Amino acid sequence: GNFVPPIKSNEGNVGNMTSRVAGKSDDTLGDSTKKCLEMLCGPDGELPEKLRNLEPRLLEHVSNEIMDKDPNVRWNDIAGLEHAKKCVTEMVIWPLLRPDIFKGCRSPGKGLLLFGPPGTGKTMIGKAIAGEAKATFFYISASSLTSKWIGEGEKLVRALFGVASCRQPAVIFVDEIDSLLSQRKSEGEHESSRRLKTQFLIEMEGFDSGSEQILLIGATNRPQELDEAARRRLTKRLYIPLPSSEARAWIVQNILDKDGLFKLSREDIDSICNLTEGYSGSDMKNLVKDASMGPLREALKQGIEITKLKKEDMRAVTVQDFVSALQEVRPSVSLNELDKKEEYF
Ligand code: ADP
Repeated sequence: GNFVPPIKSNEGNVGNMTSRVAGKSDDTLGDSTKKCLEMLCGPDGELPEKLRNLEPRLLEHVSNEIMDKDPNVRWNDIAGLEHAKKCVTEMVIWPLLRPDIFKGCRSPGKGLLLFGPPGTGKTMIGKAIAGEAKATFFYISASSLTSKWIGEGEKLVRALFGVASCRQPAVIFVDEIDSLLSQRKSEGEHESSRRLKTQFLIEMEGFDSGSEQILLIGATNRPQELDEAARRRLTKRLYIPLPSSEARAWIVQNILDKDGLFKLSREDIDSICNLTEGYSGSDMKNLVKDASMGPLREALKQGIEITKLKKEDMRAVTVQDFVSALQEVRPSVSLNELDKKEEYF
């Protein structure tokens, strides 16, 4: 009656490991949670030590929402930023690919700060690092930790770093890191947000000193607000500026080309670039989107129904479409504001 099969069945494994997770019994866990825990198990079918005391639903959240197994961005997708790409390759990608060479005096810092105006490709760089270094990418917005996960942020941070250490090499990208590691003492700084900050620093300290293959990238457009502890740990800092005129041209061409809509001449592109001084990469993307609606709007104005519209009925996108789109899509960073910040940058 008590026959125990010599080879554990898969079902049995899940039972084993989940019963040890935060004291939950197997039947209280949903199928998706079980599946996710199963994926976090090591080759021995057991959940790694570090994850055993963490709540299954937080592990599931990290695996499903924060972890991105295939970030799908390559250097070639990012316009301009040649200097940043070169530095990052040397400072973080090579060390992740060849930890055996990058030790001793070559050992890299484990923290990188990307700062600069919003929508300029900081997240893209994070994803590209993970893509190029064949690392697992984790994305979290620090403001969501303090707003959405009130009181639980600390536990989520432990789950995040725990899962990352089981998925090495790993890149943890913390957007708006200033909202977590700010030197500004907000008047009503709650006990919980102080604990969250401490937990975060402890986790960072943990992998900073060890041989773990984890890189932490913090992104911010308010670097001046970071506190001393954050600056100490994010030893490498790179300014990610607004795109140059060439980079803006590249973004326009690249997006229209992908859709087979590109018919603009060199002069057209030049005039679009002249009109978009101060636009971020993200603004440029929105501008192209809006401009590409021009031919469609025009065709519909002539009375063709959307359901009957043939692609051939639409003309190519022109500079005029961009000029109209410029009325709708304004730059999200004011140059005035940027001037003030650039003193720091
Ligand atoms: P940030 O993290 O700096 O706020 P993102 O990396 O999230 O900005 O960029 C937002 C979007 O803007 C990207 O998905 C991309 O479409 C576009 N973008 C921004 N910068 C660039 C760039 N240098 N090259 C190509 N696309 C860009």
